[in-house]
Amino acid sequence: MTVWASSHSGESRSGKAGERAAWRTSLCREDLQRLLHETSGADSVLRWARPFMRRSGNLPLLSAADSSISDVLAQSGAADDAGSPPVRLTRIARHLGVRLYFPPPADSHVAREQSTPDPRGYFGTIVPDGDRGWVLHVRTRIERFARETVAHEMSHAILFRRAERNDLLAWRSADWSETEESLVNYMARSLLAPANLVDLTTGDSRSLSSFVVKRIAHRFRVPYRVAAARWLDIGDRFERPVRAFILWRQYHPFDERRVVACFSHYADATRQLRRVSRILNGALGHYSFVDALGLWRRILHPDWPHPAAWATTSPREEELVREMSPFCVQLVRDVDPTRVEAFVDSSSRFFFRPEWVLWRGRPLDSFVPERRGAARAGSLVEASAAAGESAHSSAVENVNIGDLRGEYFVDAFGHGSAEKGLRFVLCAYCDLPE
Ligand SMILES: [Zn+2]
Repeated sequence: MTVWASSHSGESRSGKAGERAAWRTSLCREDLQRLLHETSGADSVLRWARPFMRRSGNLPLLSAADSSISDVLAQSGAADDAGSPPVRLTRIARHLGVRLYFPPPADSHVAREQSTPDPRGYFGTIVPDGDRGWVLHVRTRIERFARETVAHEMSHAILFRRAERNDLLAWRSADWSETEESLVNYMARSLLAPANLVDLTTGDSRSLSSFVVKRIAHRFRVPYRVAAARWLDIGDRFERPVRAFILWRQYHPFDERRVVACFSHYADATRQLRRVSRILNGALGHYSFVDALGLWRRILHPDWPHPAAWATTSPREEELVREMSPFCVQLVRDVDPTRVEAFVDSSSRFFFRPEWVLWRGRPLDSFVPERRGAARAGSLVEASAAAGESAHSSAVENVNIGDLRGEYFVDAFGHGSAEKGLRFVLCAYCDLPE
């Protein structure tokens, strides 16, 4: 019997948890430890965890999670240092009795390449298949997000497995909880990048962010956010403790918030160009980064030489250019010309905003401007955004990103083509010695 009624698509229940839960469910090990310590007094919060802890011989919850992950990796034979990637999730699925279903290619979730899914936007659902086995539906075919999803959902299953059987009673009675999601995300990272396979000794701590990108994200085929969180879990033995990771990515050219970031000193231009952005997005929202940027260039710089590609544009695009161009050119006439140039320069700082923030020890009511704002003038992010294909740099900077403020040693790694909208800059913000 399939227990659909108790579908643990906790993710779909997470909507009400609000903005705060977005980062509260990606805590690093140290922060998770603190959260569990704080909530351990509240019996109802961790009721779901008690049978799991009993099974582990009454270890504290986080230790029970560590030991169950080690057991699963050992018993399934999924981890192989020489493998590519080093962890084979299908072996773990077979070991746990999880049947995996992926969307057919035609129905796959098509993501704009330049944006990663919202941290709250999970792509999976797992349900018990009677009292043995599980059924897991994955809604993405993008490998690194699919791997994260599979590891996440299987970690829910690990929590509710007693010997070979599913604890359906515990499963049914567990409501969605921030603590469970946070723990499950930690377990998923431990499955995807086991501590003993993340070879920290070869990590050059002077280029920490490139280590996270190449030696964790690329090697273990996980999202950059997962790789950075994994570093916060296990990489703290290095001389410079990381306070926060921020991934800076490019806005889509039609994003209104980019107008705000670039033209903030010009109220009228901001208001009108936001409206134009909305119109362009409504009419041609399916445009790739390159095409959308080309359209803005046509509108704001009608005198620039036209690439041959523009000869084949759609009637709708021609109509929009005819309609918008004279108005927009007039609109920016009194604006600092370097701003107008920067607005259509894909490597300018105005194209880069924090995609996500992982902040160790983040205060509860703190604010960081995710998916808005722009990189600061003269910052390492600005330099890394405009640098060559792969660029590493570091410096001590006075950081001022929402409530994340102060002097930090900043370690930045920029990678990918800005012109195609694929560039990102991963920054590690490290505490300075007292
Ligand atoms: Zn979940």
